[in-house]
Amino acid sequence: METINHYIGGSIAEGTGGRYADVYNPALGEPCARVALASNDDVAAAVAAAGAAFPAWAATPPLARARVLFNYLQLCQQHTDEFAAMVVREHGKTFADARGEVARGIEVVEFAVGIPQMLKGEFTDQIARGIDAWSMRQPLGVVAGITPFNFPVMVPMWMFPVAIACGNTFILKPSERDPSPSLLHARLLKEAGLPDGVFNVVQGDKAAVDALLDHPDIQAVSFVGSTPIAEYIYARGSAAGKRVQALGGAKNHMVVMPDADMDMAVDALIGAAYGSAGERCMAISVAVAIGDAGDALVAQLAERTRALKVADGMADGAEMGPVVTLAAKQRIEKLIGEGVEQGATLVVDGRGFKVPERANGFFVGGTLFDHVTPSMSIYKEEIFGPVLCVVRLPDVGSALELINRNEYGNGVAVFTRDGGVAREFVRQVQVGMVGVNVPLPVPMAFNSFGGWKRSLFGDHHAYGPEGVRFYTRHKAVMQRWPNTASSGVEFAFPQMK
Ligand code: NAD
Repeated sequence: METINHYIGGSIAEGTGGRYADVYNPALGEPCARVALASNDDVAAAVAAAGAAFPAWAATPPLARARVLFNYLQLCQQHTDEFAAMVVREHGKTFADARGEVARGIEVVEFAVGIPQMLKGEFTDQIARGIDAWSMRQPLGVVAGITPFNFPVMVPMWMFPVAIACGNTFILKPSERDPSPSLLHARLLKEAGLPDGVFNVVQGDKAAVDALLDHPDIQAVSFVGSTPIAEYIYARGSAAGKRVQALGGAKNHMVVMPDADMDMAVDALIGAAYGSAGERCMAISVAVAIGDAGDALVAQLAERTRALKVADGMADGAEMGPVVTLAAKQRIEKLIGEGVEQGATLVVDGRGFKVPERANGFFVGGTLFDHVTPSMSIYKEEIFGPVLCVVRLPDVGSALELINRNEYGNGVAVFTRDGGVAREFVRQVQVGMVGVNVPLPVPMAFNSFGGWKRSLFGDHHAYGPEGVRFYTRHKAVMQRWPNTASSGVEFAFPQMK
């Protein structure tokens, strides 16, 4: 069986950990590879390689750095299908969905190629007589990214293209569930002309993460994953003096007003709840039906949920693949059981779903609950599976109250024809990314991505202008040349005269 190793200083490295984890093909329900789990020494080797590469890379003109990324961008476009097939094999999502993930990652590279424009400072002539001032942004040094299983191509691309365009060197610790794309990124970056040591990969689990968090030579850590781990990363990384951005889990609501275009709302909910088997941090997992919208909504959703084409992600016409692991399938099915016990109406039950010829695959069918209340575990917990909960409420005010009380604040949407309702909703909702008649308002690469409340720990959102701010330090400079007359010794605090 193939072993997926580390990538340190421009070469594949077997590492010294001596520990491995199985990587599963979730549609088959069997291992397809094994991945090395890094030791402290492996992490130290990656940090040393990235540290050695940093001075020359930071001194490389931004335009030259951008040109390497431009080559990489073209290679990513050429290798889209190879990336996507890896994602289907180790994650399980459909091939079309995996291609979409690659495309959204490539957009961040397109943004990073424009880095000279983003790194321009501000100059002020003559802040005092004979003195000018300007600001500039400089890279931090060695930075690390720790990423989740659900977007093994795209989420690392939220981080490293911006980080390295800014002049940092980077260590990626991908999810151990689907590690292969990390090495394709490494190969293509090298082919694009990236110097050895600028991009490194350590495969691994908690041990590798802790070694990164504790290493004194790592300046910043970007994390995307579940909320408990995000909180842990933020606390431990910032206690060690690092800059940390840690994006966490979500429970995203979509409010359907009685005046909404019901067909549009149903299409949106089916795609946003069941796409990628619900394993997206922007998936809609709660539909909030206002007033009399509920009956029509649930009737249409039920029909469409039953008709979902659940299959191997490579199968023609597949709309939804398996979930990532057997443990995930068992956890989702347990939560569905709790929903029933706690009194929700199970309209469509996806438990025990079987795909012919994929008898051991980790499949869960589309599941729909009606009459869900906030005290139920299916409402409170991030299920991260193909389960949509319908909550019925009388008006938009009570929907806002519900959403603003929720511990998460990643994404939200409102479907309505009333501009006034939409405007107030956008202004009042305590959530980082908001859609009006748009179910998955995932910002483009030139904006920035991030949630509020327990969906993000730290001060900066990911990629776009926020990414540039995260991966650079601001420096303020003042300059005077000796041809201006000295103002003599000054003991009072300097001020403009
Ligand atoms: P996870 O938190 O289990 O793992 C994320 C990363 O942390 C992995 O690299 C993993 O190896 C590492 N990790 C896991 N346990 C750890 C521990 N105890 N100590 C240190 N490191 C540990 O998340 P996941 O299951 O891979 O991904 C799904 C989660 O990610 C969901 O909660 C989803 O909402 C979230 N997510 C959030 C966003 C966002 O932008 N907010 C985007 C994608 C996914």
